[in-house]
Amino acid sequence: MLQKILIANRGEIAVRIIRACAEMGILSVAIFSEADRNALHVKKADEAHCVGEDPLAGYLNPHKIINLAKETGCDGIHPGYGFLSENAQFADICARRNIQFIGPNAEIIQQMGDKIAARQAMKKAGVPVVPGSEGNLDNVDEALKLADSIGYPVMLKATSGGGGRGIRRCNNPEELEKNYDRVISEATKAFGRAEIFLEKCIVNPRHIEVQILSDNHGKTIHLFERDCSIQRRNQKLIEIAPSPQLTEKQREYVCTLAIKAAETVNYVNAGTVEFLLDNENNFYFMEMNTRVQVEHTISEAITGIDIVEEQIRIASGLPIRFSQEQISKRGYAIQFRVNAEDPRNDFLPTFGRITRYYAPGGPGVRTDTAIYTGYDIPPFYDSMIAKLIVWALDWEDVIARSDRALDDMEISGIKTTKSYYKQILKSPEFQQAKFNTSFVDTHPELLRYSEKRSKSHVATAIAAAIAAHAGL
Ligand code: ADP
Ligand code: ADP
Ligand code: MG
Repeated sequence: MLQKILIANRGEIAVRIIRACAEMGILSVAIFSEADRNALHVKKADEAHCVGEDPLAGYLNPHKIINLAKETGCDGIHPGYGFLSENAQFADICARRNIQFIGPNAEIIQQMGDKIAARQAMKKAGVPVVPGSEGNLDNVDEALKLADSIGYPVMLKATSGGGGRGIRRCNNPEELEKNYDRVISEATKAFGRAEIFLEKCIVNPRHIEVQILSDNHGKTIHLFERDCSIQRRNQKLIEIAPSPQLTEKQREYVCTLAIKAAETVNYVNAGTVEFLLDNENNFYFMEMNTRVQVEHTISEAITGIDIVEEQIRIASGLPIRFSQEQISKRGYAIQFRVNAEDPRNDFLPTFGRITRYYAPGGPGVRTDTAIYTGYDIPPFYDSMIAKLIVWALDWEDVIARSDRALDDMEISGIKTTKSYYKQILKSPEFQQAKFNTSFVDTHPELLRYSEKRSKSHVATAIAAAIAAHAGL
């Protein structure tokens, strides 16, 4: 088993990994930028080291991080998500410096990080992919010709894209021509690579993804699927496990497809195979993410398996402890990504001091976050500041419990997306589990709410109790 792990990340995922290390008796080393000096992951780790003045450069510097891991006697590095987690060069240097990268090897990261290479591998293995380019596009004329044969609408996508960026829908040739250079420029800016490709746009699809675990001994298992159809601008807001929109037969089919996808590329460690489900009930492979995902928590909630622990065990060379038959799911789990954004002002990012944070509790409620009362949210990082994960035995109960937990959670001082999620829970389509990736755009009315309750239930109850007591 690995003995000491450097966590090459920040925020809630760094805290999440530190917790797994602590439970496993593994020492943890945090890294931080000057802007993160007061961050929770710095306080929670066994050791913490500053990697520079710049808010981002240190988290993105493979050599600096690997040298630090060597100096502090680490034998493993966990990259979390984002930052260097899907950087093949980073995984490669780790291997050459004899540090265990907690994730797949550089070759798999490279292949799956290139959406064209991934599509080609899946096609060859007989996994259905979204119809589209064979390779990268050379020029706009090629794109126009291809779109003509596939039929509009089409999607232009960055080949090394991620995080929902570098994707544009084109409804006709004029839009395709207009967006062609834009997507190239977005891809170059965001990912440092100019390659783009074209896919048929699946209209109003559902986003269904399967959690996979593969070990070094040739075993691959799945932890069922997640429904991530509630998105805004191709970025996930709410995730659900299992999907309340699938039949048992569809579930079995898509999970088997995902295992086939992982086995085809000799996958190792935790990974996610993402699919789109169209209105004729066809599944299409979209991409594979070769890292722990933001929404891994809900698969943990329904299976009881600690995915980060399994990642560390697999990276230590241990075989997976359970057979597929031993893994069962129970109930439903929903994750809400609480972002520091103002939903009623076009989701404008907000920063500043959290004047009060009260974590929700009660049965079936988990929060993964790195905020605390008095914490100042720096303006340099991702806007997701907390994840609220709610579990219950059935769909109706998980909705009711979510509503209660969102009320219970108190974040004062900044605007967040929490209040918007309360509105989504009220929507009949959501309650009836009939939604697709267009849900947010087709329900603008859910954004027109007033925040009548300035205090949370909890604060109001406390105030009432104090007042009652004073009156006695
Ligand atoms: P998930 O796939 O786990 O649902 P997201 O797509 O929300 O995760 O991405 C998680 C984080 O990783 C975000 O901060 C996102 O910006 C970042 N990210 C994901 N893919 C990439 C990529 N290819 N390049 C840079 N950042 C990425
Ligand atoms: P990323 O790497 O940024 O996560 P994905 O390829 O996974 O990019 O796509 C992100 C989201 O964009 C999907 O969940 C889906 O909502 C939308 N999307 C991507 N490709 C298509 C497509 N061909 N048709 C319809 N929607 C798509
Ligand atoms: Mg994706």
